[in-house]
Amino acid sequence: MAPDGQILAPNVHEAESIPEAAKAEIDRLLASGDLFRYTAPSDAPVALLEQEFADLLGARYALAVSSCSAALFLSLKALDLPKGAKVLIPAFTFAAVPSSVVHADCVPVLVEVGDNYRVDMADFAAKLPGADAVMISHMRGHTSDMDAIMALCDAAGIPVIEDAAHSLGTVWGGRRIGTIGKVGCFSFQSYKLVNAGEGGIMVTDDSEIAARAIIMSGAYEENWKKHPGLSNSCAHWQNKLPLYNLRMQNLSAAVIRPQLPMVAGRVEKGRANHDHVAAQLNACAHLRVPDPLGPEERAPDSIQFNLVGEWTDDEARAFQNAAKARGVSVQVFGLSEGNARAFWNWQFLGPQPDLPQTRAMLMRACDVRLPTRLNLGELDFIAGAILGAVADVKG
Ligand SMILES: *Cc1c(COP(=O)(O)O)cnc(C)c1O
Repeated sequence: MAPDGQILAPNVHEAESIPEAAKAEIDRLLASGDLFRYTAPSDAPVALLEQEFADLLGARYALAVSSCSAALFLSLKALDLPKGAKVLIPAFTFAAVPSSVVHADCVPVLVEVGDNYRVDMADFAAKLPGADAVMISHMRGHTSDMDAIMALCDAAGIPVIEDAAHSLGTVWGGRRIGTIGKVGCFSFQSYKLVNAGEGGIMVTDDSEIAARAIIMSGAYEENWKKHPGLSNSCAHWQNKLPLYNLRMQNLSAAVIRPQLPMVAGRVEKGRANHDHVAAQLNACAHLRVPDPLGPEERAPDSIQFNLVGEWTDDEARAFQNAAKARGVSVQVFGLSEGNARAFWNWQFLGPQPDLPQTRAMLMRACDVRLPTRLNLGELDFIAGAILGAVADVKG
């Protein structure tokens, strides 16, 4: 709030502060120096986090690692795919997703995404024959049609990994996102719902996948004995798999654990915030916030909307600039230079077939962060700036 009572543009790039409760545990860890997850005989913070996260998701096993990207990579390695295996991924996702596929010695096959930011099921069905695995990235928390995807993949015997980096708390048909495929991967990077700076976790009900991922994450010698319920599988794989050392350390777990009881509240707040702004944007004929799919209950901490009707690239750029001048950062995914979410910038993949539908979407889809802590005044400021920017360009 400015001295004259005017609301200032909220800083949406500040991370969420860490609960006070983390401090005592961090002090205890600093005093003892016990930062490595496998030093304590039991109840290390990372092990407790895994148990708590598995309980939160209703999954049998959880493995905490250094990032969601590490979890995606380990998930692919744990599936024991042949070198050069084809992995279907949505063409709208973060560059870390195709990167994890390349890192695992697999070949990503990009699938078209519609203007509702979800996997195009016709293109998916056409590309599925010949695929060895599927990695569904619920980009910005938008859930693709998991019923249709699982029906096709189950019928073809193709395993599904869920990139749920931005979907903690999202529910699909009563089931938690991240528990529908064989493996679900989540992120604790600062811009996600739970902030640890960096960190990731994977969940699965499959004891073989869990055991293989645990060994490869760096549970060398007999450290896997500190993962409950997996002794037979882990004993079998010990020394047969490479160690990639992607473990989480105890300080990260100490930062994450007190935030887990806050997830439900953040999800509820995030959804209300999103819907409050969406209603204002949808009242404008030039903007459209796509509806969630029927079975989907979202957990958003950002909003995406399309510029609809006649917009030239120059008008879309002018809109971005007008919003910025009004204090709100709007990114049109395809118009911001070098955007890591635009597939044509993933040059490390080499030449790719064009994906005209996804390209068209990216050229008109806008991205605005809405951290769950924002209050109504701040949300109205953001919506007002976006609507004002449309008026600046469209009159
Ligand atoms: C953030 C994000 C990732 C990467 O997570 P890291 O923990 O930073 O590796 C992957 N996929 C999506 C959809 C993301 O939003």
